[in-house]
This record gives sequence, C-alpha cells and structure tokens, in this order.
Amino acid sequence: MTAQLIDGNALSRQLRANVAARVTALKAKGITPGLAVILVGDNPASHVYVRNKVKACEDTGMHSVLESWPASMTEAELLGRVNTLNQDASIHGVLVQLPLPAHIDAQKVIEAIDPAKDVDGFHIASAGALMTGLPGFWPCTPYGCMKMLESIGYDLKGKHAVVIGRSNIVGKPMALMLLQNNATVTICHSGTKDLKAMTLQADLVVAAVGKRNVLTADMVKPGAVVIDVGMNRNDEGKLCGDVDFAGVKEVAGYITPVPGGVGPMTITMLMVNTLESAEKT
Ligand code: NAP
Repeated sequence: MTAQLIDGNALSRQLRANVAARVTALKAKGITPGLAVILVGDNPASHVYVRNKVKACEDTGMHSVLESWPASMTEAELLGRVNTLNQDASIHGVLVQLPLPAHIDAQKVIEAIDPAKDVDGFHIASAGALMTGLPGFWPCTPYGCMKMLESIGYDLKGKHAVVIGRSNIVGKPMALMLLQNNATVTICHSGTKDLKAMTLQADLVVAAVGKRNVLTADMVKPGAVVIDVGMNRNDEGKLCGDVDFAGVKEVAGYITPVPGGVGPMTITMLMVNTLESAEKT
C-alpha cells in the first residue's frame, strides 16, 4: 500500500487565501489585524521562524511588528514590552518567540500576555479553555494537525489515536483536541514501556518527539493515518521528521511529509488565530 500524502503546503495556501479574504473584509470596516512578535537573543532557528511569521502577515495583508532585542534584555524589560503591546489597540496578537535566554522565566512572560491576545495559545487561560472545552486560542501546531485531519474528512469518533510526546505546546494539547473530537486517546512519552504495542493499535498516530525514526513501518497498523510533527536533521543535514517516511508510507493510509507537512500549517494557524482575535474586537 502507498499512503496518500496530506500536503501541508497546499492546504496552507487554501487556508491563507481564506484568511486574506477575511482580512480584506475586516479592513473595509477599518480594522487591520496586527501581530506583534518579540524576539530576544540570537537563536538562528528563532530568527528564521519569526521572519516566516512576519512574511505570512505581509502575504495575508495583516499588520506586523517585529521587536528584536539583545540577549541581555532583562525579564522586567521584556514584561514591560509585553504590557505595552497588551494595551496597543493596533495589535491583536502578542507572541514571544521561544526559547528565551536562561535568565528570563518563560512561563512568567507567557502569563503576562493578555489572554485575549494569546495567539500562540500557550497562556494558562488558553490551556484551561482547551481542557474544559471552552472557546479560546488553540496552540498552532496541534491546531494545524486537526485541520489536516479535517482536510481528508477524517471522522475521529471512535478512532484510537496515539500521540507520541506530551509537551505543553504539542503533545498534550493535541491529545485534548483529539479527545474533544471523540477519539479514544493514548499519550506516550519517554517512560512508555512498549511504544510499538501502543502504536500498532492506533488508527491515527501523531509523532511529536524530536527524534528521527521514532516510528517505523513495523510499528504502524495498515491503513493508519500518520501525522509527523517532528523536525530533525538527517545525516546529510536535511530536514526530516520523527517518522521513517520511506518505510511508513508503504503501510499507512495517509501520511504527512517533512518538510511540507505540519510546519507550514503551524504558521497558517497563527494567522487564523490573529485574524479571529481581530474579528472579535
Ligand atoms: P519536547 O518538549 O522535547 O517533547 C518531546 C516529547 O517526546 C516529550 O514528551 C518526551 O517524553 C517524548 N519522548 C522523548 N523520547 C521519546 C521516546 N523515545 N519515545 C516516546 N516519547 C519520547 O518537544 P516538542 O516541543 O513537543 O516538539 C516535538 C518535535 O516537534 C520537535 O522535533 C520539534 O522541533 C517539533 N515541532 C515542530 C513544529 C512544527 O511547526 N512543525 C512545532 C513545534 C514542535 P518526556 O515527556 O517523558 O520527556
């Protein structure tokens, strides 16, 4: 069997076109959705991510502000900037790029963001809303995975989903979103004794670990849907996921590639969250 590809680039293009149309409609009412991105320090990967976020804003007609601060910025200074942006009526989303330098308490900074502008969905209020099934911002990466499942018309009701990874930004919110959509969910992590025994029972596997080849063909039930969130480098330095793509695509029913899968969807859902924040004003 050869799996069908879930193309994150194509789906992103569709969704971003829809965002751009809604931005145009909002502008006609005098509101331009605005995203502020704060970057502290010189992490090269973070620079690429924030550049892509700002470009996505430009492409969809949104206003964006990029603040780049040196690694020496103090926690108090950063909290001050977040507070200022919280009060800025032209800004509907405030995002602080992680990781932050070690002397800054990232959780404290996230909690300082106005939950109404928490477009990354990392604030404890957003996490609580997801946990209780109330409206709120969903973290962009698992939200993007949900959109990918929606795009193939996948009905989660009664399906067994296995999520590998339990981080606050991917694994846990992913599991909650799947649960909310009536899947039976198993969460695996580094302490899971027999990962293969779990994944072989899964109709859907989401791999969010950050290690190559965590999921291989012998671990996948024929026809299962496989979503690969991981971002790693192979021996040639090329971007790859957590899934052994070449092997697993011969067993799975659907699979997301890396690159061109979950990655572009993450930024797309950031645009959706920012737009929806502006639509609420
Ligand atoms: P993280 O915070 O490091 O969490 C990794 C999770 O994997 C942890 O829960 C860990 O378990 C679990 N784990 C580690 N080794 C394992 C093993 N051998 N078997 C089963 N579980 C194992 O990472 P993250 O932030 O969630 O990100 C995960 C991956 O997704 C990374 O590659 C990251 O770069 C990528 N990512 C991609 C996007 C995107 O837009 N495409 C966005 C975010 C993240 P413990 O909890 O027990 O330690």
